[in-house]
Amino acid sequence: MKKIRQPIIAVLGHVDHGKTTMLDRIRKTNVASKEAGGITQHIGATEVPIEVVKEIAGPLLSLWKGEIKLPGLLFIDTPGHEAFTSLRARGGSLADLAILIIDVNEGFQPQTIESIEILKKYKTPFIVAANKIDRIKGWKINENEPFLVNFKKQDQRAQQELETKLWEVIGKFYEMGFQANRFDRVQDFTKELAIVPISAKYGIGIAELLVLIAGLAQRYLEQKLKIEVEGPAKGTILEVREEIGLGTTIDVIVYDGTLRKDDTIVVGGKDEAIVTKIRALLKPKPLDEIRDPRFRFDQVDEVAAAAGIKIAAPGLDGALAGSPVIAARSEEDVEKAKQEILSQIERIKIESGEIGVIVKADTLGSLEALSKELQEKDIPIRKADVGDISKTDVMEALSIKDENEYLGVIFGFNVKVNEDAREIADARGIPIFVGNIIYKIIEDYEAWRKAEEE
Ligand code: GDP
Ligand code: MG
Repeated sequence: MKKIRQPIIAVLGHVDHGKTTMLDRIRKTNVASKEAGGITQHIGATEVPIEVVKEIAGPLLSLWKGEIKLPGLLFIDTPGHEAFTSLRARGGSLADLAILIIDVNEGFQPQTIESIEILKKYKTPFIVAANKIDRIKGWKINENEPFLVNFKKQDQRAQQELETKLWEVIGKFYEMGFQANRFDRVQDFTKELAIVPISAKYGIGIAELLVLIAGLAQRYLEQKLKIEVEGPAKGTILEVREEIGLGTTIDVIVYDGTLRKDDTIVVGGKDEAIVTKIRALLKPKPLDEIRDPRFRFDQVDEVAAAAGIKIAAPGLDGALAGSPVIAARSEEDVEKAKQEILSQIERIKIESGEIGVIVKADTLGSLEALSKELQEKDIPIRKADVGDISKTDVMEALSIKDENEYLGVIFGFNVKVNEDAREIADARGIPIFVGNIIYKIIEDYEAWRKAEEE
């Protein structure tokens, strides 16, 4: 049986521009609309049922002609662009849609630019939330008002100041190859980026934001969201986590099919594909029912896409964040899943033996993103692997340095440099370029190389 699942929505943006505040605000709207059915907390995600969207949207729903068939929206709770890079699925992005949040008073910042680059690369449709409009001088705050209602109440000076700030943002988007406009001035949502001015803190404009994202999902992603619900599940590991009493667990976003308690799952491990039987499927207990922090989860028998779920199973120690999770209900399916996962890992984890740089990253997804970027710049890679930067990595870079002084270097995305690694690297002159913004890491390397060459 086919059904339309919830679109998976990621929230990206520069640090402190309001990602957490916006998600909190969306969750809080629950209180205001109890009769519309609750917002459900998933592992790593929050689900807003379509009834809640409709209730919040009120008369704005008329923006959307025709019936809304989506069951709801699933917001991923691990915001930050670093996390987004690990949200990969089928070589693309796990997120069907994204909200890019920009502090309208600060404008574009490094992580804003990086977020846009990633969205572009994955071809993820997105809308823009221009946040913190309440900070504009003389702005009159009315909590939870739709933006267009709130905007009309502002005096001309405040309105003009917002327009100026929006124009700056629109100009920056233009430089990056996007045509953007305030959402109510957009003619064609397939060609123009919609910007919704909001105040996450006071809930202004959240109504329009939800309606727009639901509308876009329905209009442009309906086919993609149509899934065979009963089929074996597919998902992506968000996080590998130690839990008291449960051992190593994986937090997974399921984007296809149904995961059952008696399924066998195959996931990507450090050096192989891990095949294991599910011990428990766990979802978070409602906050008001947690009396003992050791018992924070409820067990469920099955879960259908789209959903966030914690899986407890033996042998998950070596599981990799960003790896696919494939459920299998027969020997044959297990074999197929193993092949599929191994081929994905092999494509990402490089062991070329060539004269080239060493690349380390925190997840499979970020490793893939950083390596791709280096390859596009024609920087050869000797080794690409998940994990912190170790002494072994430095030793390997040292051996490269003898062959080519510009390639005896290490790149790291969102990883630590072990102390002994740092010591040797400093002593023997092996540069390490680490950070959580890919283009910055590469810029640092290019600047260093240029200085060396002179
Ligand atoms: P994140 O790093 O993107 O998750 O940003 P946060 O949501 O943690 O927000 C960073 C800071 O900005 C916090 O102090 C928030 O209270 C504040 N903030 C977020 N949204 C708004 C807003 O709409 N208006 C104002 N005035 N402050 C905001
Ligand atoms: Mg945050």
